[in-house]
This record gives sequence, structure tokens and C-alpha cells, in this order.
Amino acid sequence: MNFFPTHISSSPRMTMSETQAVPRKRVRRAPEQSPVVGPAKLPSLSRRDTDTPDIEDLCFTREEAAAVRESLLLWYDVNKRDLPWRRKAEVVEEEDCADKRAYGVWVSEVMLQQTRVRTVVDYYRRWMARWPSLELLASASVEEVNEMWAGLGYYRRARFLLEGAKMISSSGEGFPRTVAALRKVPGIGDYTAGAIASIAFNEVVPVVDGNVMRVIARLKAITANPKESSTVKKFWKLASELVDSIRPGDFNQSLMELGATVCTPVNPNCCTCPVSSQCSAFSISGRDESVTVTDYPMKAVKSKQREEFSAVSVVEILRGHNSCDAMKPESGYLLVKRPEGGLLAGLWEFPSATLKKDSGSAIRKKAVDRRLREVFGLDSRAFSIVSREEIGDFVHIFTHIRLKIWVEYLVLRLKVDEEAFFSRLNEDVATLKVVNNEALSTMGLTSGVKKVYSMVQKFKQNICRGP
Ligand code: SF4
Repeated sequence: MNFFPTHISSSPRMTMSETQAVPRKRVRRAPEQSPVVGPAKLPSLSRRDTDTPDIEDLCFTREEAAAVRESLLLWYDVNKRDLPWRRKAEVVEEEDCADKRAYGVWVSEVMLQQTRVRTVVDYYRRWMARWPSLELLASASVEEVNEMWAGLGYYRRARFLLEGAKMISSSGEGFPRTVAALRKVPGIGDYTAGAIASIAFNEVVPVVDGNVMRVIARLKAITANPKESSTVKKFWKLASELVDSIRPGDFNQSLMELGATVCTPVNPNCCTCPVSSQCSAFSISGRDESVTVTDYPMKAVKSKQREEFSAVSVVEILRGHNSCDAMKPESGYLLVKRPEGGLLAGLWEFPSATLKKDSGSAIRKKAVDRRLREVFGLDSRAFSIVSREEIGDFVHIFTHIRLKIWVEYLVLRLKVDEEAFFSRLNEDVATLKVVNNEALSTMGLTSGVKKVYSMVQKFKQNICRGP
């Protein structure tokens, strides 16, 4: 028997979906020029596998590396973007300032792994205004950090920043200065360690991210699968042959900057590229019209996203008398904290039920009832149902998951006094809280929860406006 009544109104459904599409363009070919590295004739990608030198045999000669370094650093000095974390890096010389610089590089690099530079600039400024030093970050709570990170995704990275800050701060030894020492900090991998060590502490080490791999793949016309660990290892080796011994940080940034602004995945601007005369892909494409520079690196086949399904119930609890205006402050929304491990760990969301497959309304409702019974831990004698509506669905995309979410809006009025009601909430199953509309609007919520909330807001506005 259903815990809640089963009528569902026929109000208009709102449907949203997210799709990702990347247009593929052909790029201009290079003029005829002699190859720097690679075969004299490479007629097609199908033949390239056999004609191109094995990746194991590839290296930059001293002369090639010197030429790439010189060209790139000259270009970078004139063309680098004016970014807040770089400005700081230019003015600090003293020891403690190097630590501050390392902190800024760390935060910016972790953010840059999430999204594009333009978005990161705002997040970075807000973060640094709130926690201008590592010590201040170390005193923050997970909730504060999650709120600041809201919208960037991969919340685990934000938690690692906090854990790392606590670890470094409590060690009393200042910021670790070498790749080896940095790798011991939670959440700092090879890339971030290389970036911090070279940019903040001038250690002569390479960095390899997607931009660097693409540039090197084109410089050396590498067709090997960039997702394979043996290929990635080779990219690290090639990058270490290039890195400048006097300005390692600037050189690493110049390589990444070139990949981000000139040697882009789909539409590289070879005509303005400072290293076009050292670029094998550019050279090959000039001799063979069946080849373009964007053929490098090989496109890795994307693994199929897993499909998942979820029914979300936005539960609003009315505390006042006969109020049909749920925007009034006497109402509150029920939020549940996600488990401390796994996807979106420790973040707040509306109660939801996982579904095994794409299910009909009755099954969804049953699953939600079961979940609400678990969450509330009490029966319908504690409240009456004012309304219950299915208001729409949308698809939320995570890296490996395509999650279809159905949203219902459930309004309850307490029959018992508030204290009695909340004392019966089942804290053993989940951590709960009820927040009002104002608090919900200013909380740091994940983008999926924000979408759900905005669907409810729109639905309520439509009700208030009437037919
Ligand atoms: S010449 Fe073109 S493909 Fe080669 S590195 Fe420059 S932008 Fe990239």
C-alpha cells in the first residue's frame, strides 16, 4: 500500500536535456616545407601506423629542444594571458612569498582541471578573497569549501584541497617544494606537483596535461593512443626533454598556453604558431592533402556513459496556518546529506530514490514513498499532504553517467508540533535539515540540485500566475 496518495495532476511537464556536440572542422594545411622529424612521405593515416617511427624511438634532439624553448618563451612573454594567479607569481621573490605563490598555483591548477579559464577566474578570485592563505583555508569546514566550489563539479578535489591545506599547515614545515614532497599531499598528482614545483619553486620538471599532450603529439606527429599509460609516459619523457632549465615554470606555462590558445583541438591557428617550423604535423599536412594537423593526436574512443535513473522529491513542509503561498518563510525544504564516500560525497540534496530502469509514474512514486518513509521514519499521522505534483524531468550528465531525473513537488503540513515531528526523523538513515527558501537560494548547491530547485520555483510561479 502506498504511503502517500497516488493522484498525480496533469500539470504541464517541463523537460530539459543536456547534450554535448563538438563540430569537426578541417583546418588549413601547411605550405610545403621540409619535415623536422618523421617520414619523407606519409600519404594517409592508415599507412602512418607502419611509416611513422615507433613512439619509443622518438626524442627531441638538443637543437630541436633549444629551438622550441626559445620560440615558445619569446612568444609567451608577449602573448600570455593576464590571469590573476600569474600576476601574483610575478611579484614575489622571498621565501614565504614563494609559499603564497605555490598556494595560488595549487588552487588555480585544481580549478583549471574542472572548467575553462574564464569561469575559473571568478571562482579563483572568490576563493582567494575568502581564504587568502593556506593557513586560513586549513581552518575552513568541508561545508564552506563545498559551498565555495559549488558548480565546479568533482567536489572530491575541493575536499582534497582542504585536506592538503590542513596537512601542510599542521606540518609546520611550509609548502613542500619538490615534486617528490608534493606528491605526498592528498589530491596532488604528477601534473599538479609538476606545476607547483616548476612555477612556484623553479624545479626543473615537466608538466603534462591534455594541452601539452596535444602540442607534443603534433610537434612529433605521434599517432599512438593518448589514453594508454605507456603513451602518457612517453609524453612525460618528451616534455622533460623540452623543459627549460632556467625558466621551467614559464616554459611549462608557455606549452600549456600554446595548447589552450593556438594549438587548439579542433581549429589550430598554425599560421600564428611560434613553433610551426618545428612541427612535424604541420610539415606532413603541407605535403599530403589527405592529412591535417588535427589528425594528431589520435582520437581516443570515448567509453559509453552508464545510464542511471532517479526520482527526486522536493518536500516542502508548511509550518504556518492554511498558507498556500509556499514562498512564505514559515515553510522549509527538506534536505538530505549524501554519504561521505562516492559521487558528490557529503553534499546536500533533495530526497531521492534510485530506480533500476526507465520507470513509469507508479513505480517512481512507490520508490519515492519507500525512500521518504526511510528518511522520515514515521507515518502519515504526523502530517497531511497539501499537494503532490510531478513537475518534469531532465537528463544530467556526469563524466561517465547519464542520469535521468524525474522531479516531484510535495507539500506537507504538520499535524504534530514541530519538535515532535523533527525528533522522529530517522537520523540513522540520513543526515537531514530543513531550510527556508532564502537559505536555499544562497546555499552552495550542485548544478543538478540547482536545476531541480529552479524547476520547482518555475512551477510555483506558474501556479501563482494561474491560468
Ligand atoms: S603548427 Fe599548428 S599543429 Fe603544429 S604546434 Fe603549431 S598550432 Fe599546433
